[in-house]
This record gives sequence, structure tokens and C-alpha cells, in this order.
Amino acid sequence: MISFRNVNKFFGDFHVLKDINLDVKQAEVVVVVGPSGSGKSTMLRCINHLEAITDGELVVNGINVHDKKTNINELRRNIGMVFQHFNLYPHKTVLQNITLAPIHVLGEDKKKAEETAMFYLDKVGIAEKANSYPSQLSGGQQQRVAIARGLAMKPHVMLFDEPTSALDPEMIGEVLDVMKSLAKDGMTMVVVTHEMGFAKEVADQIIFMDEGKIVEVGKPAEFFANPQTERARDFLKRVL
Ligand code: ADP
Ligand code: MG
Repeated sequence: MISFRNVNKFFGDFHVLKDINLDVKQAEVVVVVGPSGSGKSTMLRCINHLEAITDGELVVNGINVHDKKTNINELRRNIGMVFQHFNLYPHKTVLQNITLAPIHVLGEDKKKAEETAMFYLDKVGIAEKANSYPSQLSGGQQQRVAIARGLAMKPHVMLFDEPTSALDPEMIGEVLDVMKSLAKDGMTMVVVTHEMGFAKEVADQIIFMDEGKIVEVGKPAEFFANPQTERARDFLKRVL
């Protein structure tokens, strides 16, 4: 579903992604961990072309992301992204937040878009908040709306960049539970997170990044029990 081949990226002179090779299969959950500044967000953002790559090849669901001929809007339609800050429209209701893109981008009629929105709101456990405004919801509820909004576009892939980092501790679990159920339903997911419990339980592969490189790739059981590099051992000592 996603394949990086010798991908490099520079910000000016700064070599932020160094020779990245990564394959994510359909229905796989890949969890990306690593110290702050190691390039995790940048790698994620290359997948939906929020960042351009400098060289190499990146293919998502058969589409060559950085080919000049690629229609970026079409690409993004199939890739949902959830950020640390939920970025909901404050003056629109939950239902309007979710139906906006299906109506304006996919051209769905309002009634169908609302039915789809209610289906996903129910899935994330907050159907009763459909007519509330974001400010009336807790952080955990807002993040679940953001996930429902992504799902309403029926993407092939969901990307999560530290989706629980801005939440109060008591709300982290409800968001991780939604992500676990998505994984169980077979969604292809790439998740940047510091939630090592989630990584252990849900990941098919763990990617450990440091200084722009993928330093380790492995099954969670192997990675957590027996990290191969000093850098990964150091990192785990600090986060576990
Ligand atoms: P992570 O998500 O692992 O914390 P990032 O991908 O956000 O790391 O950043 C990796 C490095 O690239 C950091 O040193 C950061 O300062 C730098 N960086 C990120 N975005 C930009 C940008 N737009 N311009 C220049 N440097 C950037
Ligand atoms: Mg980041």
C-alpha cells in the first residue's frame, strides 16, 4: 500500500530523511517511534505530499506520489490524516465538520454525507454530539470527531501524527481504543506515537527512527524485548 524506495529529503542544506526504505502492506499497522526531531512527522507528511521529497520513489496504492503528473488532490482523498491538534472548524457543528469534504470534494449529496457521518460518529462512540460545536467537546471527543472526519472520506490509508499528545491523560485511552478498533477492521495505518502500550499491542511493525534514518524495523515483541542498537535501547530507557 505504501512503499518508500531510497527516499531522501533536504530542508535547504539539512538532510532530514536519509535513504528511507519502508513497505506498508494493506491492513498493516506500522508504528513509528523515535526521539523528537528524528524526522517522523516529515516522513508521514511526505506520504500525502504535504512535504516534497528530494529524491527516491514513494508509491501509495499504485500512485507515484512525487511524479509531476500525479493529481495531488486525488491522492489526498485516499489518505486520511489525524494530527496532534484536531483542527476542527470552530464555527461548524460536528456533523458539518465531517460532511464538508464529502460534499465539496467527493460531491456527495447532503443526505448521504450525513448518513455516512452518523455511521462514523457512531463508530467513534459520539453520535449524540453530532449537533454540538467543537468547543462543547472534550479534547478526546474532538480527536474522535477528527478521526470520524478522516474516515468519512473512505481513505485507503490513515496517518496519525501523535494523535494523543495534546490530550489530558484520562482521554488518551478513548482515542487509542478507536484506533485499535480501526486496526481490527483492517485499516492500513501509519502511526507516530509515544504510547508504547499501543505500539506493543497493535503494531505489526515498529519503525525506530533517529537523526533522519530508519535505525530498526521489527515486530513489537522483538523490538521492545531486544532492541538491536544502543540508540534504540537509550530511547526505550527514556520512554518506558
Ligand atoms: P519529529 O516528528 O521526529 O519530531 P520532524 O519531522 O518534525 O521530527 O523534524 C525533523 C527535523 O527537521 C527537525 O530537526 C526539524 O527542526 C526539521 N524541520 C521540520 N520541518 C522543517 C521545515 N519546514 N524547515 C526546516 N526544517 C524543518
Ligand atoms: Mg513530529
